[in-house]
Amino acid sequence: MKEIQKLFPSMDGNDLQREELLSYFKTILTKIDELKDPNKLTLGEMPEYTEDYYNRVIQKADVPKTGVPMEEVIQELLKLVEGHRYVNRNYVANAAPLPNIASIIGNLVMVLVNGNNLWDVEGPAAATAEVEITSMLSKLIGYDESISAGYTTWGGQGAVFNSLRLAIARYAPSSNKTGVPKNLYCFCSELSHYSLYKSVEATGIGVENMIRVKVNADHSMNLEDLKEKIELVIAKGGVPLYILASMGTTDTFGVDDIEGIKLLADELERTYGIYPIYIHADSAMGGMYTFFNQYDFESNPLQFDDNVNKVLKSYQQKFKHMKLADSMVFDFHKLGQTPYITSLFLIKNRENLKYVDLDAEETPYVGNRGYGSYHTGYTLECSRMGSALAIYASLLAFGIEGYQELLANYIRVNIAFREKLTNKISNVMITNEISPVTTFRFYPEKTKWNDELNGLLTVEEIMEINQFNDEFAEVIGAERDTVFFGNTKKQRLVEASNSNKPVSVYAHKFFAISPYSTIEEIDRYVGFLKEHLELFLKTKSCKEMILKS
Ligand SMILES: *Cc1c(COP(=O)(O)O)cnc(C)c1O
Repeated sequence: MKEIQKLFPSMDGNDLQREELLSYFKTILTKIDELKDPNKLTLGEMPEYTEDYYNRVIQKADVPKTGVPMEEVIQELLKLVEGHRYVNRNYVANAAPLPNIASIIGNLVMVLVNGNNLWDVEGPAAATAEVEITSMLSKLIGYDESISAGYTTWGGQGAVFNSLRLAIARYAPSSNKTGVPKNLYCFCSELSHYSLYKSVEATGIGVENMIRVKVNADHSMNLEDLKEKIELVIAKGGVPLYILASMGTTDTFGVDDIEGIKLLADELERTYGIYPIYIHADSAMGGMYTFFNQYDFESNPLQFDDNVNKVLKSYQQKFKHMKLADSMVFDFHKLGQTPYITSLFLIKNRENLKYVDLDAEETPYVGNRGYGSYHTGYTLECSRMGSALAIYASLLAFGIEGYQELLANYIRVNIAFREKLTNKISNVMITNEISPVTTFRFYPEKTKWNDELNGLLTVEEIMEINQFNDEFAEVIGAERDTVFFGNTKKQRLVEASNSNKPVSVYAHKFFAISPYSTIEEIDRYVGFLKEHLELFLKTKSCKEMILKS
């Protein structure tokens, strides 16, 4: 047993065992640092992902008969790190975070004391941190912290699922016993995240009862279409249960008018005497911008440039109404730069939790003792990680102003990128509003974006431009260890001149959220695109000439 005990941290806090653990940390940190290269995306060389790559992994895998020395464990782990993408200045693909130091330390503390966030007796550190961040962020967005509730959960998707569960149980308290009623309907914009799609599948509501609402030019939900579609459901005897308001769509950062949605829901409730419609703000992408809710744009204490100020001010106008939602989410592992998974699901009124809380009788081993007073019997998880600690540490280290600086930089860099891109390349069109992400589309010759938007092109013409962009995405994707751009096959839907089915528009994505993506880097990003585009056009026209001859 002595040998086995060596695999654990000390019982008494002796220096020797601490030094040993520290030396392992040091090796790992040093080796990873050695792999870093500011001119490349990856830590060292990418493995060759041949067709049989994972098959070979499967065949080779076996639990060793006897344990291997810790040095070897570390070597094996470092082999896995080799070729990993690292969110440095060359990463502009998606909302992937580079965990900040405070959050790394918060995570480490979480692991070292390894509390179970299910029950404060088992995890007091994370329980207190969870209550604390729930209060902090409630105050920030304008929920009353004395009646709100919050818990960390499995991502923005988990928040959508949890909110839908609350909506169902609130509307039909007996549904936990007798199953979900048949006539419930959910509404979301046609650009919303697929989280709701999965949630209506899993709750049994069914995808056919998820109604997609058209979007406006700025990618926000069209409220007239929403109204029409809800009224249609009511007319047919259905129950409009739930509206998902996207506060920053995943690919284009469209922000729904949540105040308008709330006013509309109130109006429909009055007109038709229906049960209040549950509104969840899907703020996984944009929620962090509530950090500007109190920012004074007149005195502008952080001295943001006018063009940055203008965007942030427009966000303030939209995000200050998020408190109207019944629930929302903070996905810190997106724009908040913390490790996966650090998502806080926030509920406006904790009363609603009573519909989903477990009976004390159903939880025989936790929660129903005289000791301990925080038991999250309403979560879908049983054991829960204490990721509140990482969020808590980040909030302390950044403060409101630190996050404001970070979030403003995303906007600053995107503005500069847009200017440079359209300056240097003529056959490109920027296809979304200024935000932390820029979507753009290339054209073989002249840009045709306005024609596409206005339904003047045929399906075939749009698809040909999609194809052109798809091929180019492959070209720059192969070079992603220099600069890694993202792309999407559904930037938005447009109408075609010869079909009544909407057509998806492909686009490239520039998602500049690394703290190392600064305006000094813009020339490199645009230079990379320009160089590859010219080459791509040349090889394409060569191929065409060969085909013709
Ligand atoms: C990313 C995202 C989600 C899903 O969040 P996860 O944390 O990845 O589960 C949901 N909604 C929106 C709008 C998102 O951008």
